[in-house]
Amino acid sequence: MQCPKCNDAMQTVAYDGIEVERCDGCKGLWFDMLDHVHLAAIEGSEAIDIGSAEIGKRFNKVDDIKCPDCRCSMLKMVDVRQPHIWYESCPSCYGVYFDAGEFSDYKEKTIMDFFRELFAKERL
Ligand SMILES: [Zn+2]
Ligand SMILES: [Zn+2]
Repeated sequence: MQCPKCNDAMQTVAYDGIEVERCDGCKGLWFDMLDHVHLAAIEGSEAIDIGSAEIGKRFNKVDDIKCPDCRCSMLKMVDVRQPHIWYESCPSCYGVYFDAGEFSDYKEKTIMDFFRELFAKERL
């Protein structure tokens, strides 16, 4: 697979049985449908996001990209809970692309929300 942002090669990396493609160049991450959600729930999974957030920010601006899997034009998405996280989603295969550093950021908040909900109490 070729990186849709910098055209470098992407390598398969696996964490706890979930496979992700990571770019050799910009270190962007490609997730198959909902794998970013599944992976964010697994402890330590931010270890796959080895790239620099500074480089990720630069590639964040490259947003007219084609799906590396099925070549469709990807949609520009924003995480509703974290509006500073912009990512791209394929309308056909539902794969998503995160720039370097974005998955760690996404995961951190997701886990915080999880604990907040866990410790939330009903008001009497
Ligand atoms: Zn790349
Ligand atoms: Zn696709």
